[in-house]
Amino acid sequence: MPKPEDVAALMAQRAEAVNNSDQGAYLATVWPSDEVLMKEEDNLIRSSSALGIKDYSAKAGTPSHHRDGVTAEVTQSYTLDGVPRQCAYEAKFVSEGGKLYYAGPAFLLLQSDRVKIYYAEGGGELAQKTLETETAVLDAMKTRLDFVPQDFISVKQYADQQVFLQSVKLDLPDWVAGWQEYGEAIKTRAGAFPVETGDFWRMLNHETTHLMVSELSNDNASYWIQEGLAGVFQHTLSDPGLPNMAKEETGQEFTPYAEQKGISLERLSGADVRKYYATSRAFAAFLLDTYGWGKVRQALEYMKKYPLIPVTGAEKIPESNTRTDEAIKAILGLDTDDAFQQAFDEWLDGMKG
Ligand SMILES: [Zn+2]
Repeated sequence: MPKPEDVAALMAQRAEAVNNSDQGAYLATVWPSDEVLMKEEDNLIRSSSALGIKDYSAKAGTPSHHRDGVTAEVTQSYTLDGVPRQCAYEAKFVSEGGKLYYAGPAFLLLQSDRVKIYYAEGGGELAQKTLETETAVLDAMKTRLDFVPQDFISVKQYADQQVFLQSVKLDLPDWVAGWQEYGEAIKTRAGAFPVETGDFWRMLNHETTHLMVSELSNDNASYWIQEGLAGVFQHTLSDPGLPNMAKEETGQEFTPYAEQKGISLERLSGADVRKYYATSRAFAAFLLDTYGWGKVRQALEYMKKYPLIPVTGAEKIPESNTRTDEAIKAILGLDTDDAFQQAFDEWLDGMKG
């Protein structure tokens, strides 16, 4: 059992590292045996370093033995754009090689041969349902898209929205309800999507599509094509009869291709968020209708030749746009933004009939 002062010192080290934007010092506190957590914490501290947060605080309560390890209640707080943010959760601590480490929220684990569900106390029933649904999503991906993930799919279900958001990025907008970034777990707040509705399947399907697109492209696919393909497959994968885009959706106003590429979704709110998703989905539906999944997949796999840029999607928008345009040019023959726009407009006119 670690001493309370050791846990407190570890959390103080993490807080100091956030306030000093010291990525090395922050990551030195993370349990190195948990690769997924390490990737998540790496993305979190790097993308938070640019925010200039100076008043981040993380305080731990008295540690206690809990199931398979040591946990303590952590309360963290900071100010972002003048707005105070706070959350509290039970964190896990691990001693390894004589050193104490932060091991993330104290989740319970439910696992099969393909899927790991991490869930909070009281979430057992939802975890079971999530395991079944995620397994069905993977079955559909194998049958319909000929895709099998390289590794376990991890899903982390947070009991609290702020704990969920702050586990991803310290500036993640409040409207986000599900998350997947290459190398990370699929994250969501338990209860954000009612299991008795199709929304629950669609959320898991959407986030798992992100994982597929990242794996196929070595995470070089653009932000819009990620959201576009996730937006289409979340509907069509469970129902082969559905079109990639419904006729009644063709009347919406879409952002021009050249403009859409440069937009940072995580900076948007309200109607702009809906327009970004609708436009991305329309572009993906156009590609799938015109060229088919086989060719679109080939375009994604064309990007495997580019090295991995080990940062989050939002941080590499210019690079992933260039790589996606190169692939679209090489495999689909659309060699400029204008050529893409023109072919899209023609497809859309045809859809409107
Ligand atoms: Zn998405």
